[in-house]
Amino acid sequence: MFGFGKSKIKIHPEVDGGVKKGSANFAGGTLTCKCTDKPVTVHIKGNCAYNHVCGCTKCWKPEGALFSQVAVVGRDNLTVGDNGDKLSIVDASAPIQRHACSGCGTHMYGRIENTDHPFYGFDFIHTELSNTDGFEEPRFAAFVSSIIEAGTKPDDMDGIRGRLKELGLEPYDVLAPGLMDAIATHAAKKSGVLKD
Ligand SMILES: [Zn+2]
Ligand SMILES: [Zn+2]
Repeated sequence: MFGFGKSKIKIHPEVDGGVKKGSANFAGGTLTCKCTDKPVTVHIKGNCAYNHVCGCTKCWKPEGALFSQVAVVGRDNLTVGDNGDKLSIVDASAPIQRHACSGCGTHMYGRIENTDHPFYGFDFIHTELSNTDGFEEPRFAAFVSSIIEAGTKPDDMDGIRGRLKELGLEPYDVLAPGLMDAIATHAAKKSGVLKD
């Protein structure tokens, strides 16, 4: 009835045919880059959280997709496996340092090194690189208006937001309320306005 798969709007290959639910007790998986020779692997213990599609211009996305798909995991639950020597940081000055494969360009994980950052302790991963299904599914869309910065026409935005809603991915132009609240809480505690 929703016509999944018929839309010409390509959000991301993992959601274009409808969002597939993850499994509640998922034990974790291995992310593998796109290299056929000596691929980089990253092991994730347990499930991810806050999986979403992201329209910012920094996240790695597959060819032809308007959005990336990105989730968070605790940094202690992420370990680099094979061929980690191929990883290099895309932009060391960015708040999230994205570790990409120098062979194929795939971003394997993003890490925050600034301990004052509200999301310090979280790593960012792309669950589509997993060899096994089961990671929590994307649940919202972040930085939707930012796709204009990547070349989307402003007139196309209504259709894109409509498609996101149809897929059950509530569109937000920054982050979802829970994450925005976490950022504001961090700032309020730092300034002393909010005591815990
Ligand atoms: Zn690679
Ligand atoms: Zn992003």
